[in-house]
Amino acid sequence: MKIELSPPMKRVMTSDLMQRIERTLEEFPELRSYTLKVGLVMHSDVHGNADSRNKVIRLNTRAKSGTTYFTIAHELTHLLQRPGLGIVPYGEIQCDIYTLARSSLFTDDMPTYLPGLSCKKREWIHHATAIREMCIEAIEVRKVRRTYIAWLSRAIDEYFSRRHPPS
Ligand SMILES: [Zn+2]
Repeated sequence: MKIELSPPMKRVMTSDLMQRIERTLEEFPELRSYTLKVGLVMHSDVHGNADSRNKVIRLNTRAKSGTTYFTIAHELTHLLQRPGLGIVPYGEIQCDIYTLARSSLFTDDMPTYLPGLSCKKREWIHHATAIREMCIEAIEVRKVRRTYIAWLSRAIDEYFSRRHPPS
């Protein structure tokens, strides 16, 4: 996939971030035949955003946790949603589910929109693999049930209540 940087992104791009973007793209074979435009997000409170129609993602290089694989992948997953390729169901929760399910590489940051995540950001790493498994299962559940997000939300709740039973 060809990558085009916006002028402001060009000014702040590092070899580390470029490698992260390229590595993340390897997990998105669906996007191989397109040119990805990468811009800079100007609001310090958001991790990034995406314009799926025009194959643009914008990243916040000043985010406190750095630009994680998860964040890059979340924005790339938006390109797979409408009005982009339309192969992933539309919505932010959906985007988190499909991002996490796609690769274990994307467990390096806690998703923002996944329902029921009751752990702290610094504890996420201990739960990431289990939650990712649930996302993979939820996508299977979706094949037979429209309510896969409710299913996932319940599974995550049950997972955390098993680990931290109410005293
Ligand atoms: Zn998003």
